[in-house]
Amino acid sequence: MPLREHSLVDFLRRSLTADKQRAQQWRKTRPFHDQPCPSCGQRLNGWYGSTFNENAAVRVGHGDERVIDGCDLNAEQWEALADDGPTDKALARIVDLDSKLAIVDLCAPPLVETTGPEDTEKQFIPGEGSPWALPVLKLLALPYAQEPEYQNNRARWEP
Ligand SMILES: [Zn+2]
Repeated sequence: MPLREHSLVDFLRRSLTADKQRAQQWRKTRPFHDQPCPSCGQRLNGWYGSTFNENAAVRVGHGDERVIDGCDLNAEQWEALADDGPTDKALARIVDLDSKLAIVDLCAPPLVETTGPEDTEKQFIPGEGSPWALPVLKLLALPYAQEPEYQNNRARWEP
């Protein structure tokens, strides 16, 4: 595998990891209507949604539903109150992405040590790798063909 195709390995690791982080955010919510607010103890009316406080995980509502009144919860409070774990779709997607990340690891060219007598730290360069590794990596990158980084490398990365 030519040295420059290391950028394809890095691109795939970044893209797959970003997808995995997104999938980990697909969560189920336990009903929390009528529970005490973890922050102030008032009865929750079930309204929740986006928040104006970027440090909060979520804003829960309580009191009169005609008045937007609520508390910002941090991730720990939200998890204890209503987080019911990843959705089935998230779990399936995470398994899918983990297997693709493992395939990228198998296809990544091995590092060859080039440490010389003058070097104070060990030195490595990417080795050749398997002849089938690059075609496999190119196929794994196809779902990301619309990304600008892919477009810039299209001539080298297209199968
Ligand atoms: Zn509250």
